[in-house]
Amino acid sequence: MPAPPYVVPDGPAVEIDGLVMRYGEKVAVDGLSFTVERGTITSVLGPNGAGKTTTLEVCEGFRRPQSGSVRVLGLDPTRQRRELLPRIGVMLQSGGAWSGVRAVEMLRHIASLHADPLPIDLLVDRLGLDQCGRTPYRRLSGGQQQRLGLAMAIVGRPELVFVDEPTAGMDPAVRRTTWALLEELKADGVTIVLTTHHMDEAERLSDLVHVIDHGRLVASGTPFELTRARDQATIRLVVTEPFPQGAPDKLRVALGDSTEVTEINEQSLLITGPADGSTLAKVSAWCEEHDVLPESLTLGQRTLEDVFLQVTGREFEA
Ligand code: ATP
Repeated sequence: MPAPPYVVPDGPAVEIDGLVMRYGEKVAVDGLSFTVERGTITSVLGPNGAGKTTTLEVCEGFRRPQSGSVRVLGLDPTRQRRELLPRIGVMLQSGGAWSGVRAVEMLRHIASLHADPLPIDLLVDRLGLDQCGRTPYRRLSGGQQQRLGLAMAIVGRPELVFVDEPTAGMDPAVRRTTWALLEELKADGVTIVLTTHHMDEAERLSDLVHVIDHGRLVASGTPFELTRARDQATIRLVVTEPFPQGAPDKLRVALGDSTEVTEINEQSLLITGPADGSTLAKVSAWCEEHDVLPESLTLGQRTLEDVFLQVTGREFEA
């Protein structure tokens, strides 16, 4: 991908400080602060309804902050929207094209709005859009719509791209191509803000991860910092029948303060703590004492998904 023709200035690509957003009584974003450094891939993760899309919509200039401040490429996204728009790309979760327009026609139209667009043939080829170039948008598969959405977001050589669940509905091969494309964009100096429900995607691509829940920041760090630095391991316990009343609390007491027990649902637990034999032995003894039959008991290094479960206490509802 040819390098964008700009000089990278100093300062973060995105600065969010104390952002509050409400829909009526509902507080969607509750004093959120984080930054996105230039030239990085930064993931914003969180369960459904955590406030990710609302936050990104403010960054993209679609919504005005109700409280707090947001700067994007040093600009105010609502007051300086005209100046900002040519410098950013936005890939929406769905839509973004007229239903009857053919895929490549749509891409050509978006390209014509930019001063120095990327070559269309290059994008069509890289994203495998050649097979569906003449297909009307509404007839494209979910994965093809995503690919077209990504092409539309980057065709104007943006300095900063917001990509909302870019690989939803893509098959594994196309997912990998998309990852490679995002990594190439980063190598060219483009900043990428990613939201995804695929933790493997976030772990593989991100320089930095921000996890938000109920509109607040609950964890931040590199994937390495979040998964490894605390010298902790994870035990995942899935059982055949729902846990007996009060049993998880007894496990918490048995394991002590250095271990954290998160109830994921009525038949699975996530135990985070020192990866020693004594913890495993206590979990086995607890199973026996409560007549609980494990379906699986796995011990491993924490993954980003474990961190997500631990800090939000919730499973993904992708
Ligand atoms: P998802 O992962 O499902 O896309 P999200 O993290 O992007 O979720 P938001 O879409 O920002 O979350 O929504 C945050 C909260 O605000 C949710 O409770 C949602 O129901 C609510 N919300 C979002 N948009 C509106 C709206 N236009 N009117 C009323 N409530 C809204």
